[in-house]
Amino acid sequence: MFPCLKKEKYSEKEYNAAVEKMNRAMESRFAAVPFNERLIFVPQCLRNIGKCKATECGSYYICMECGACKVGPLAAKARALGYKGFYILKGGRTVEKLLKELKPKAILGIACYFEGFQGFKEGQKHGVIVQFSPLTKDGCVHTDLDLEETIKVIEKY
Ligand code: SF4
Repeated sequence: MFPCLKKEKYSEKEYNAAVEKMNRAMESRFAAVPFNERLIFVPQCLRNIGKCKATECGSYYICMECGACKVGPLAAKARALGYKGFYILKGGRTVEKLLKELKPKAILGIACYFEGFQGFKEGQKHGVIVQFSPLTKDGCVHTDLDLEETIKVIEKY
């Protein structure tokens, strides 16, 4: 389930390959988990910071679907399907906190490949099925994703 990478440092190519391998391996198991047992995590760098109306709750935000960025349509889709939760994370450590609190059976992480890799590690530690959907532009602010492709992953069933 988890590729054995033993070096200290990995290249971007190695992270990407490992994440894609784990994603394929877990795809059918993710699809078999009911929506109400799944959480979605998105990074805060996707928000339109100047206009964002998200509610801040400690280590994460809850999207108010204000329409100023692509997170809104994703949150609306997750809500319509009955997902257990949709969280805009301030940092990777919040993943473990929410896994412990909410005990989902599966998580969908929308992130850069490096954070996706960390998400698979966290999922393995907690026995949670993970699915990953990559950002099309990463960085610390103004990141981007393919809305249509990401919604397809949210809808996987
Ligand atoms: S859609 Fe959500 S995350 Fe995006 S700017 Fe509005 S409240 Fe913030």
